[in-house]
This record gives sequence, structure tokens and C-alpha cells, in this order.
Amino acid sequence: MASDMEHVREEIEDENRGPSFHCDLYDTEISHKIAQMLLPGLATACVDNTTGDIFRTPALVAVDLRKEFVEYLTQRSESFVAETTILEGDLAAEASDDPYEIIADFADDFATLKRNLFGRISGWLLSEKREDKIDDIVQEMELSKFWAIDRREAIARTLLKNVDFKGAFHCVMKFDTTEDLAEHVASCGFRSMICANEGCNTRFTAAHLEKHDLACPFKIIPCEQNCSESLMRREMDRHCITNCPMKVVKCPFYQVGCQSTVPQCTLKQHIHDSLRDHVLRVLQRSHKEASADDLKRQAEQLESFSSELASACDVKSLTMVLKDLEARLQQPEATMTTGLQSDAHTTTSNAEQTEVSSPAHINTDYQN
Ligand SMILES: [Zn+2]
Ligand SMILES: [Zn+2]
Ligand SMILES: [Zn+2]
Ligand SMILES: [Zn+2]
Repeated sequence: MASDMEHVREEIEDENRGPSFHCDLYDTEISHKIAQMLLPGLATACVDNTTGDIFRTPALVAVDLRKEFVEYLTQRSESFVAETTILEGDLAAEASDDPYEIIADFADDFATLKRNLFGRISGWLLSEKREDKIDDIVQEMELSKFWAIDRREAIARTLLKNVDFKGAFHCVMKFDTTEDLAEHVASCGFRSMICANEGCNTRFTAAHLEKHDLACPFKIIPCEQNCSESLMRREMDRHCITNCPMKVVKCPFYQVGCQSTVPQCTLKQHIHDSLRDHVLRVLQRSHKEASADDLKRQAEQLESFSSELASACDVKSLTMVLKDLEARLQQPEATMTTGLQSDAHTTTSNAEQTEVSSPAHINTDYQN
């Protein structure tokens, strides 16, 4: 790119020596943007020129003003280089390099020149009615093909080349032979390209390839949350908040006080690693009146049932499993504080029968 620019500069210096085959490629995006702007630019002049006038309407002055408008823009764009080089210091720094902005300013100046007496009233200039009227005229002009887009494109291209004296938006290269020109055109930074990403048909100037690629919705990129997947940019947001394994989720035991947040792919591991903590928290909730030591002891005892406990992945199912296990461990004469001291392993064999006969005084709080 840098060497391209050097080349361009040499070419500008060589201007008088005259290779005669010009590359006339240009930035089609910005030229299109300028062509689009010409219509509202003209409509504004037409509206402000005739507002409050009972004899003249925007439609009536449109043909004449269009001619004047094009002449005005052409003349301003031709003298732009000379005007800009006179500017010094701050003024030069403030001057825009963007051909669209430069030409939009010319268009504004034209509309200002064309304002009639009523059009100069600031209340009118700021009114919504004026905006609506301009929009209506633009629409009318579009529908009636009053100023066809290809004609506006041709004007925009000329204006662009006039104001873009640095060659940032159009190619200024010239060649001695058509062969040299053809060779250049194939690799010119202003040649038109179609995005190569599958599903995307965007057309752009070659120099904008990188810019487009960085934003192309169809570009396949690695997951922003660093999971192993790669997917289209436009699917990224959805992926990251739904099925991305690295999506951060709350521990399902947050409602009983576990504050952990973990990537969803490690949730199972967290549930496994924090089993004792989760059991204790669920027990604390179901036995509010029990002492911390008792609950701790109870949780330790229940650890011998780790395979059953591990299958419970949320508060509800862990509560059920614990309720079931407690019932199995429960001796008929047991109380809340002593009941779980019997050997857990000897009671597991009766699991099926004891399941249904859990003493009510232990389980009343379970569903809180
Ligand atoms: Zn070129
Ligand atoms: Zn694309
Ligand atoms: Zn992901
Ligand atoms: Zn947890």
C-alpha cells in the first residue's frame, strides 16, 4: 500500500511528461454516496427558493435549479484545490479530506444562495414542515425519475475526481501502453471486488477489502468467548449467550447461597467439586432450627452416598435425594439431632421400604 502511494506521487509529478492511458477507477462507495446526496441537495434548494411564494412551486423551478446546481458544484469542485492550498495552519487542518463532506458543504452553500426572503426566516429553516416538504420532493423526484441515478453517478464521479486531489478516492495512475494499463487495472486498489465470504455478496473497492472483512457478517471467526468453535460473525452474539460452552452461568444452587459463576462446560465439574457445600446449604434450608455442627455432621455422613447425591444437579432434585436418604437413615426413635448417627451403610439395604415412611417432623421444612 505504501509503495502504491509512492507510485501515485511519482505519477502526479510526472503529469506533464504525459503517459496517456489513464486508469479511471474510483471509490464507487463514496461516489454513490455523493450521487445519493445530490437529490436532497437539489430538493432543499427548490423548497427554500419557493417557500411562501404563491406563484412558484418546487416542481416549477426544479429543472432550472438542477442545471444551476450542477454548474455550481462543478465550478466549486474545480476551484477547490486552489482554495485549499491557500488555507494555512488551523484552517487547513480543519478542512475535510472526505469528498462526500466537501461536496455536501457545496450543496448546502447552493441551497443557502437560493433561499428566498421567506426561506431565510430561521423559524422556517428549523421547522419540521420544511423537512417534510423536502422529503416529499425527494420522493417525487425519485418516483418520476426526474434525475436518474446513473446521471447523478456520472456527475458525482467528476466532482469526486475534482476535489480528491490527493488521489485517496480515485486512481491517478497513467500508462504508456494499453497493456500496462490493463495489467495495472487487474490489481488497482480501486477495482471493484465481491466479498469472498460464503453467503456475502457485498461489492466494494479493493482498498476496502480489509475494512469490510473486519465487519463482514458472513466472515467465519473464532468464538469471542474462546470456546473451540468458529462461526459466522452474525451468529456470534446468539452463540455466546446460548450454546457456547464458555457461556458463564450461575451455579444452580445460587438460590441456597452458592455464589459461583462458571463457564457452562465446567458446571458439572463445579457441582462435583462443591458437593459437600451444596449438600450443607440444602440441609441448612430444610432444617432451619438445627445447629451448624449437627448439619455439618449430617452432611459428612451423607457423603457416603456421593453417587446418588452427584446425580442431583439442582436444588429441587438434591432436596428430594436428601429427603430420601434421610428417611433411609432414620431410626424410629431418632430425633433431629441424633438420628443420623447410625451407620449409614447398614440402612441402605432397606432403602425401598423406608422411602415412604420418613418421619414428618424432619421433613416439614423441605419445600421452602
Ligand atoms: Zn488504478
Ligand atoms: Zn462480506
Ligand atoms: Zn463459543
Ligand atoms: Zn455452586
